[in-house]
Amino acid sequence: MHNTKKKKIFIQEWQHLIESTQKDLRQLTADIVELNSPSLAELFYSTMLSDDEAKDFLDHDLVNTRLRKSMQRWLQELFQLNTPDADVIFDHQVHVGEVHARIHIPITLVIRGAKLLKQGIASHLVNSALSRIELVTATHYVAETIDLAMDAMTDAFISDMEKYARADESYRMFAIGQNMVAERERQRGALLDWAHKLLLGLLAESKEGDLPRIHHSEFGMWLHHKASILFQSAPELENIRQRIELIELSISSRLLEAKQNATDAKQLMKELETGISEIKFLLGSLFDRHIEEDGGRDTLTQLLNRRFLPSILSREIVIARKNNVSFALLLLDLDFFKKINDTFGHKGGDMVLQQSAELISASVRAGDFIFRYGGEEVLVVLVEVDTQIAMTIAENIRKRFEANLFNVGHNATTNITVSIGVATYHGHPDFSTVINEADQALYQAKTSGRNRCVLANISA
Ligand code: GH3
Ligand code: MG
Ligand code: MG
Repeated sequence: MHNTKKKKIFIQEWQHLIESTQKDLRQLTADIVELNSPSLAELFYSTMLSDDEAKDFLDHDLVNTRLRKSMQRWLQELFQLNTPDADVIFDHQVHVGEVHARIHIPITLVIRGAKLLKQGIASHLVNSALSRIELVTATHYVAETIDLAMDAMTDAFISDMEKYARADESYRMFAIGQNMVAERERQRGALLDWAHKLLLGLLAESKEGDLPRIHHSEFGMWLHHKASILFQSAPELENIRQRIELIELSISSRLLEAKQNATDAKQLMKELETGISEIKFLLGSLFDRHIEEDGGRDTLTQLLNRRFLPSILSREIVIARKNNVSFALLLLDLDFFKKINDTFGHKGGDMVLQQSAELISASVRAGDFIFRYGGEEVLVVLVEVDTQIAMTIAENIRKRFEANLFNVGHNATTNITVSIGVATYHGHPDFSTVINEADQALYQAKTSGRNRCVLANISA
């Protein structure tokens, strides 16, 4: 549905561009593009290949054959006079954008490429026999045509990338909820299996090339494909990779050399053993840290871990925009919580935190999200509410805190109040805006006396 609207706009703009450019100028441009499309493709790729980032994506046999050809076809299609219908052209741009998204080509690269092509065609136009005014018109026509195509392509690219990013995130959430204890044992086993095969290989083989490589082992494949989804950029992962590289590239070959020269390999064997047991340790702590997080929940309060906040808020913003609904944030901070710790000890403080979490959970709906935001700060995402309902829910929570007696152990109880900053989403695409607004409202609630709810001022 979204796409048909974009398509309509594209068709209108495309037709307008064609109609407002004289036919003979378009013909001339088409001829120039047709004649120069191989050299334009060449210019594009040679410039791109001199760039480190771009090289990774383009330095491949495929590029030399398929991509080069398809870029020439793309250019010719955009400019030929008996051009296909605008809707066909639009579909082609969407298709290219989708392909780029699938292969994760950075959008900046594509935009830079388009700029190069515009400049390339313009310099050919300059060398033609056009009058000044014709040259200006033709250059404008070329730039507009490529920009229109890029718009369609970029739109498709971005919406597909978002889809993939969301899928990544939900896979991660799903995977984290899986049985991490079982996965840890399995990967420990796979690591030792690789180490075992490597040792046998070192005993039996004499050439480095014959040693079993980690890439082909179960552990290597897990590390390469799955570990970074599960653990994102955890520092242990990089450390594990470095140690494997050390073992594969340095220790093993030195061991083989020592074997051939019948020199003492004891020291090297020790290094190898150390390397492997370090990997084992890193792997263990990587898992343990995540197992502790208990499926993305905070162990003390059972509230959601705040690292999920960006993905939840981004999703809610998409939903809010699409369905024209709003959501609200409540940022809660317990009042004078330090005093609870001082009076009843850290254990007593922990108990108050747990009961606070229960009290908040019982005050919101099942579809809402509750995050442990900081030590004794909680952030609630109320979905599909307007400001008035959000304030009512906040006020209800505040009153329940005020009326509740919190258990602090040894049969003692205490009172505590809460301050709440409330902010409603009002269309800003960056979720940090609404968080900042809730934060400022909370600050107001604190400085104006605590035990109150304050609604955020909408920042410009
Ligand atoms: P204010 O009304 O201004 O918020 O006063 P406050 O005493 O609550 O001040 P502040 O929010 O700065 O202090 C929060 C305290 O919460 C500090 C920290 O020692 C304590 N805290 C943070 N996390 C935990 C926790 O997990 N358990 C316990 N028991 N205490 C915690
Ligand atoms: Mg605090
Ligand atoms: Mg506090």
